[in-house]
Parts: sequence; C-alpha cells; structure tokens
Amino acid sequence: VGVEALLRWVHPEWGVVPPNRFVPVAEESGLIVPIGNWVIQEACRQAVAWDRAGLPPLAMAVNLSALQFKRGDLESVLADALNQAGLPAERLELELTESSLVDEPQLVRARLLSLHEMGVKLAVDDFGTGYSSLSYLKRFPVDRLKIDRSFVSELVSDPDDEAIVRAIIQLAASLGLKTVAEGVENESTRIRLQQLGCDEAQGYLFGRPMPADAMPAWLADWMARGDVFAP
Ligand code: MN
Repeated sequence: VGVEALLRWVHPEWGVVPPNRFVPVAEESGLIVPIGNWVIQEACRQAVAWDRAGLPPLAMAVNLSALQFKRGDLESVLADALNQAGLPAERLELELTESSLVDEPQLVRARLLSLHEMGVKLAVDDFGTGYSSLSYLKRFPVDRLKIDRSFVSELVSDPDDEAIVRAIIQLAASLGLKTVAEGVENESTRIRLQQLGCDEAQGYLFGRPMPADAMPAWLADWMARGDVFAP
C-alpha cells in the first residue's frame, strides 16, 4: 500500500550515518529545512519514477520536522514538488509527531487545513508517546494514526501494551481515522494487530529499509509470493 521515505547520509569516510546522528544537528542548525525540502522533492520524483516503471500506485510517506512544518513556505514547497514530479497530492502523506502539533494551535490548525485542502494526507507519527492532549484529533484534519513501536513490540506478551493498542485502534475508528502499526517484526504481532482491527502495519516483518533502487525487485518478489497477508 505504500512506502516511507527514510534518510541516510552516506559519508565518504564515516560510511552510512544514521539519522539519529545527523537529524538533531540539522534541526539545531536549521539545515533540516533545505534537507527536508530536498526529501519532499526526491520522494515525489521517486514515486512517479516507480509509477512509470510499472509498480502499483504506492502512497509515499515523508517525515516532516516541526521546524519545516512551521515555516511559511511549506505549501509552495509541496506544490512545486508535486507539480514538478507530476504526483497527485493524495499520494503524498506527511508524518508529523505529536510535539509538532502542540504549540501555536491556531497556526497549526491553519496550516493543516491548507495542506488538507491541497489533498495531501496527514499522519500523526509515533502516536501515544508525545503530548497527551487528544483534542487535536477532533480539531485537526488528520487522516491516520501511526501507533508507536514501543506499544507494538511487546504487544503479544504485555497485556498493558495490548490495552493501549486496542484503545488507540478503537479511538481512531470512532473518529474515522486509519491506524498503522509501526515496528511489526513477527507474525504473531501481525495476527494480533489484525484481530484488534488495525488497518495497516509496517516493520521488519514486511521489509527492512532499503535503497530506492532495490525496491522494484523486492516488491516484484513480494508480489510473486502471493497475498500472504490477506485477512
Ligand atoms: Mn515516520
């Protein structure tokens, strides 16, 4: 159903630098804004390149930093990226953490409404770990909740985690939102999530992070194995 764009920095001397090393520095220095703009452009371009290569129309999820979310020119950055690539706005999903939605509720609401109007999908990332106000789910046009991996990893063995995941799924369903479980690593977790009514899942059980070039062959292989995860 979709992919999530993940960033790696391949450094000539240090090799692959993971995002937890460089994203905090980029956020502090403000470099996260030009990097984020590039990621949006590249993700849109890649989604259309895969369409042209005959892949099914995948949703493209992009993580957005709070800094970039609050910048005045986000709409034009998005409109330019979508136009240049020729990607329908509905195929792009922006992932925001709860902490991005906390301050300046007026500004946040206005921004989310204008993104929603553009047709871009909005997801709350790492849901359940940030600010505990749920009122934004009512006030903001959000499409999806991504259930944080910390509730998912021990889901089968920890009744407290199961209670939380069950509650998130029910809350989302009542509000007309879709749920995506993050960090699914084994079949028993997948089955439990399905029993609980979770809509979608991601994690190592399905696919590990991979270079964009490797995706078409991986997906072809996946599809050749049949719809193994049909309900
Ligand atoms: Mn994410």
